[in-house]
Amino acid sequence: MKSTTKSRSTKLRLTKVDFDLVLKSLKKHYPDAHCALNFKSPFQLLIATILSAQCTDERVNKVTVELFLRYPTAKKMNQCSLTELEELVRSTGFFKNKAKNIKEACAILVEKYQGEVPKTIEELYALPGVGRKTANVVLGNAYEIASGVVVDTHVTRLSNRFGWVKLQDAVKIESKLNKICPQNEWVMLSHYLISHGRAVCKARNPDCENCFLNKACPKLGL
Ligand code: SF4
Repeated sequence: MKSTTKSRSTKLRLTKVDFDLVLKSLKKHYPDAHCALNFKSPFQLLIATILSAQCTDERVNKVTVELFLRYPTAKKMNQCSLTELEELVRSTGFFKNKAKNIKEACAILVEKYQGEVPKTIEELYALPGVGRKTANVVLGNAYEIASGVVVDTHVTRLSNRFGWVKLQDAVKIESKLNKICPQNEWVMLSHYLISHGRAVCKARNPDCENCFLNKACPKLGL
């Protein structure tokens, strides 16, 4: 009985990539990793991140050029009609829902926060259309506050392939990664994983043969 337990825990350890080694390699290969959404203020990042749900960052960046030109601040966007807002964000998908959430969020920002974006996860999380992922993106990239690891599809996929987690739920994955990763690396960890997920460790046909993590990676699920 004892030996079974021991062999299970040994097996588990062997299937996990050493976290520090992976982080070090990712840092080395993606020194310029950063948030791919274009923004000039915390407010603009908040809006861009809400729009990025089920949409590519490239598409969002195209849409926000015109959107932020017309309505660069919460106070100005609060004056935009819902119909116009829907048209401006239409190509990001789920545009009716996104426009409604943005309108309501702008009203709250103006009424409660003088048009500024709050700096706590609880206050951000209370805004319409804002989940943990959006709150972490805004706090980490606009305010340099490490509130948690941002978990998107790339982070989910890579964390499972590395054996860091065996989960699909973003909140549970974040909680696990927050424990594995030092807090001062939370913001950059997701940028590194997203960069590697886009360039090499793709959802379909990951290029394991040419991957710099090939030897260390257990490639779980592949
Ligand atoms: S591409 Fe393959 S070897 Fe590289 S991180 Fe992804 S699963 Fe691991």
